[in-house]
Amino acid sequence: MRVLAPNPSPMTLEGTNTYLVLGGRDAIVIDPGPDDPSHIEAIQVAARAHGAKIAAIAVTHGHPDHAPGAAPLHARTGAPVYAHSLATFPHDVAVGEGETVATGDTRLEVIEAPGHAREHLVFGLSDEAALFTGDVVIGRGTVVVAPPNGDMRAYQATLARLLRDYGNSKTIYGGHGAAIDAPRAKLEEYIAHRALREREIVAALDAGERTIPQLVAEIYRDVATFLWPAAARQVLAYLIALEREGRVAERSLEREPTQEESALLNPDLSGLVDQASAAVARAELGYERDPGPVAAYTLR
Ligand SMILES: [Zn+2]
Repeated sequence: MRVLAPNPSPMTLEGTNTYLVLGGRDAIVIDPGPDDPSHIEAIQVAARAHGAKIAAIAVTHGHPDHAPGAAPLHARTGAPVYAHSLATFPHDVAVGEGETVATGDTRLEVIEAPGHAREHLVFGLSDEAALFTGDVVIGRGTVVVAPPNGDMRAYQATLARLLRDYGNSKTIYGGHGAAIDAPRAKLEEYIAHRALREREIVAALDAGERTIPQLVAEIYRDVATFLWPAAARQVLAYLIALEREGRVAERSLEREPTQEESALLNPDLSGLVDQASAAVARAELGYERDPGPVAAYTLR
């Protein structure tokens, strides 16, 4: 069952989906969400309503809308927190590919799924042919793949791998939005969307040198402009991949960004959304430092 966290925002849709996997008297909580006492309470109430004790807490990745609730839920229940070995938030058990999170009658298979975040895990519930995908696949729209923690090629490899090995799943329960009842079609759609965006970037560069704001204005012209800063991070993720593969060259224009460019490359989010949502957006979008001088890109 799902307990929706009260943290709606443009990055989190209606809020973070916290899942309880109920097997007999034990429950596994997937993604306890933000450290919000009312939400932690709601998770415990939901478990009790099903006569279940919270026996394990599994976290897909460290973003502030998914992981911070793990510590207070652990403190209240004593249930161990399971996470990727690279996770930087407090956890009790590091798990990786092929391992399990098991309590009572319930076993979750651990699938390493880097790309959106380096330390991202997907959990498989084979009894129900279900996948809990965190921010790898969400109920609607696409997810953000933002450097430095996000890596486009790793993300594409994860999507391909999920399609190959788990394409016959019945349901995907994403970290945000409604459950997906056609996983194969959704994974194919995600894979095609990423390939399309890459072709569009290469085609734009084929016409001449471009900055990231220029690429965004060309390629995402049909997308609402409030999403353009997120689009700029996606474009950067593609350009980093293409540079690494020797297909694109980067040149510094040796000037600071204009105000308009800054609004895309390093936006001030505080005026747009509340503090907590701004923190989530900064983590999702991977802003760690000043972007520095403007760069332009060409095909090699
Ligand atoms: Zn995330």
